[in-house]
Order: sequence, then C-alpha cells, then structure tokens
Amino acid sequence: MSLIVQKYGGSSVADAVSIKRVAKRIVETRKAGNEVVVVVSAMGDMTDELVDLATEVAPLPSGRELDMLLTAGERISMSLLAMAIKSMGFEARSYTGSQAGMATDAHHGSARIVEVNPTRIREALDAGAVAIVAGFQGFNRGTGDITTLGRGGSDTTAVALAAALGAKVCEIYTDVDGVFTADPRIVPTARKLARITSEEMLELAAAGAKVLYIRAVEYGRRHGVTIHVRSSFNNNEGTLVVNPEDGETVEEGMIAGIAVDLGEAKITVVGVPDVPGKAAEIFTIVAGTEANIDMIVQNVSAADTGLTDISFTLPMADGARVMQTLLGAKKKVGFDSLQYDDQVAKLALVGAGMRTSSGISAKLFTALYEAGINIEMISTSEIRISVVTRADSVEDAVRAVHTAFELDGDELAVVHAGTGR
Ligand code: ADP
Ligand code: ASP
Ligand code: MG
Repeated sequence: MSLIVQKYGGSSVADAVSIKRVAKRIVETRKAGNEVVVVVSAMGDMTDELVDLATEVAPLPSGRELDMLLTAGERISMSLLAMAIKSMGFEARSYTGSQAGMATDAHHGSARIVEVNPTRIREALDAGAVAIVAGFQGFNRGTGDITTLGRGGSDTTAVALAAALGAKVCEIYTDVDGVFTADPRIVPTARKLARITSEEMLELAAAGAKVLYIRAVEYGRRHGVTIHVRSSFNNNEGTLVVNPEDGETVEEGMIAGIAVDLGEAKITVVGVPDVPGKAAEIFTIVAGTEANIDMIVQNVSAADTGLTDISFTLPMADGARVMQTLLGAKKKVGFDSLQYDDQVAKLALVGAGMRTSSGISAKLFTALYEAGINIEMISTSEIRISVVTRADSVEDAVRAVHTAFELDGDELAVVHAGTGR
C-alpha cells in the first residue's frame, strides 16, 4: 500500500459540485488501495474575500486576529470534503493545522513550519480513513496561537506532510495541467513542461508564478519530496518538479519559463548626496522596516550637482510603511524627495541553460525593443534575468519574449477554472 498526499487548491473546490468531484477523485485513489492524505485550500476566492472583510472593519487588522479569520476558510472546505467522502461510503476525518501537528514559529501571516507531528493523521490512516488537513495553517507552541503560512501556503502544508509521513510524491492539484513556460492566462500558447528542476521552479515561484508556492518548492528540495503539479479537472500527467541532486534529470530547453509579478512597487529616492555611505544609510533604514527589497538601481550622479537618484523595488504591501519610514529620515540622509510608483511590473526569464549560453540578455532586450517596451530596471542571477516595465505593457512583453525564445507550443493551454485572483 502506498501513501499519497494530494493537495487541492481553491479553484478545485470552489463550490459544492466541485467538492463532490474532488471527493470522487479521492475515493478512486483510496479504492486503488492507497492511503490518502488530502490538504485542501479555502473554497474559490474565499481567502481574498475574508481579507477584504477584515480591511473593511480595520485598515490594519491585527495579525493574530487575521490568522484566526483566514484559517476559517480552510475549515469550511475540509469539513465539507470529509462529509462528501463519507456520503460515498468511505471513512474520512478532517483536521485543522494544529490537530495535524503543524508547529510553526510565531510570525502571523508568514509563519514558518518548525516541526510536523502528524500523529493523529497516522492514526486516521491506520483506522482506514482518508485524512483531510486544512492547508496553510499551524500553531505556535510558545504563544499557543493559530498561525498562517502566507498566501498560497497550502502547497507547503502538503509538501511538509508528505515529508513527515514519508510519502515520495506530493500531488498538487490545480486549475491548469501543470507548470507551463508562462502563465497560460497571459500566454495561451504556453507549453506544459513535463519536468522542471526545483532550482528553476524556485526562481519562477520567487518571480511570481503562483502555480507553486516558493516555500513548498524549498521544502520539497530539502526533504527529497518530488512535487507533481497537475489538473484536478482531467487525468493528464502534469509537471514533475525534480531534484537533480537526487539523480533526476530534465531534458528541456535552455529556458524553463517566464514569470510575471504585478505585486511590486518602485520607490525612488531623489537627490541623494553622492558621497560614500549614503546607500548604506538608506538601505539600513529600509532594512529596519523588514521589507524585502528586490532590484536596486543607482543613477550616475549629475556632475554639477553631486546628487544622484536611487531606485528599488519592493512588495506593494510594504510600500506605505517604507515610504513613511524613509520620509522620517529625509533631513538626516539629506535627499530631496521620494517618488512612489505602483504601476510597474517585473518580468523574469528563467533557465538553467543560461549558465552555459551567451547572448540571452541581448535576445531578451531585442525582443522587448521590437515590441516597443521600455526597460526601467534590470537584474540578473545565475539562471534568471529580470526586468521592470510599465504594468500595462507587461503582458505584451511576456508574449513577445515567449515567442522570441521559441517557447510557443502547438496547442492552446486550457485554464479549467479559477478567477486568477
Ligand atoms: P490553486 O487555487 O490551485 O492554488 P493558483 O491560482 O494558486 O491555484 O495557481 C494556479 C494558477 O497559477 C493558474 O491558474 C495560472 O494562472 C497561474 N500560473 C502562473 N504562472 C504559471 C505557470 N508558469 N504555469 C502554470 N500556471 C501558472
Ligand atoms: N487559502 C489560502 C490562500 O488563498 C492558502 C492557499 O490557498 O494556499 O492564500
Ligand atoms: Mg496556489
């Protein structure tokens, strides 16, 4: 008997009909003689709706209370799914994150898993039941409080459970057939990858491809869990995220894919005195806000003024906090003014083949130039090139780059459900 961990995303359990469809799929896996552990997300866009509700009653909701609220979404789907399975004549039991033994640190809204003790899950399996676990939540032993792992964190719950229970593969069921060369909602000609290395998947996830949550990829890599991303709407083989360190190989092209992030903003510090120590001063202040900054560009200083501009990108959610903090330090640092721009987008081209090929940046910039798209910032890593463009031109940019790197497939990709929110 093998143990299978399956995770169903919100778009796969959006309504009663979908929950029954998923229940049927789980029952089939059980009937085939497997032990089944299921991790489930909140129905449809429920988490977004709960966040909206919270900000209606409080502009900056308390982290503890927001976590308490959001975890309710997964409780609804897990219990409904267990009911549906039971009504098909199979035993199923649902568990919250804490009941499933997901111990985390105390960071509300982005807690990290510190230990997984799935004793009750093991007991449920031994009793012949399907165990259903609420995704994206845990508890902190010190505070005794409920925590969440961050948006999209149900993927991490599933991979962590797979690791703790010794499952070799963790299946992530979603509304597309796997990991594509680009978001199929933006590039309908995107191609499904049969395999991708965890290294490339990490870069794509970090750059905004929300098909897999970055921490889930990290966790799988560290614990030797293979992730299989596939559709809950058909039986097609999906994409395997494999670890080359474990002897797995990937026969794909030089470029794995393109990701887009519309969740970043750009802050420009205008008129910074161009003397040693100013960048250190500014970024020490920014670091104090715990914002995760991404790209940084410093302009050449104008000779007659001795002043320069420094721009950086950061998650939009951190924008107001960082602006306020920097403004408070205006006199001390001695800059002229601050500019805030949330109409930017980041496009990232990812591929392990970049290590050994040349001319990739030139090809990327040429494709953008020919599509009439202006590049505002550039950054690179060993296997990624990222550029910042205007938000309203990024979709054209992705399509142009996708075609330039010959990533287009012969068939149109299907998005089976979901609002893409
Ligand atoms: P779930 O509700 O199952 O967690 P998500 O909405 O979090 O689903 O993730 C699936 C979505 O990710 C797809 O519908 C697709 O629009 C988006 N996506 C972004 N980049 C990619 C990519 N490279 N391959 C596949 N899907 C992608
Ligand atoms: N429901 C949570 C969210 O929407 C967690 C998840 O779906 O992974 O972010
Ligand atoms: Mg998701």
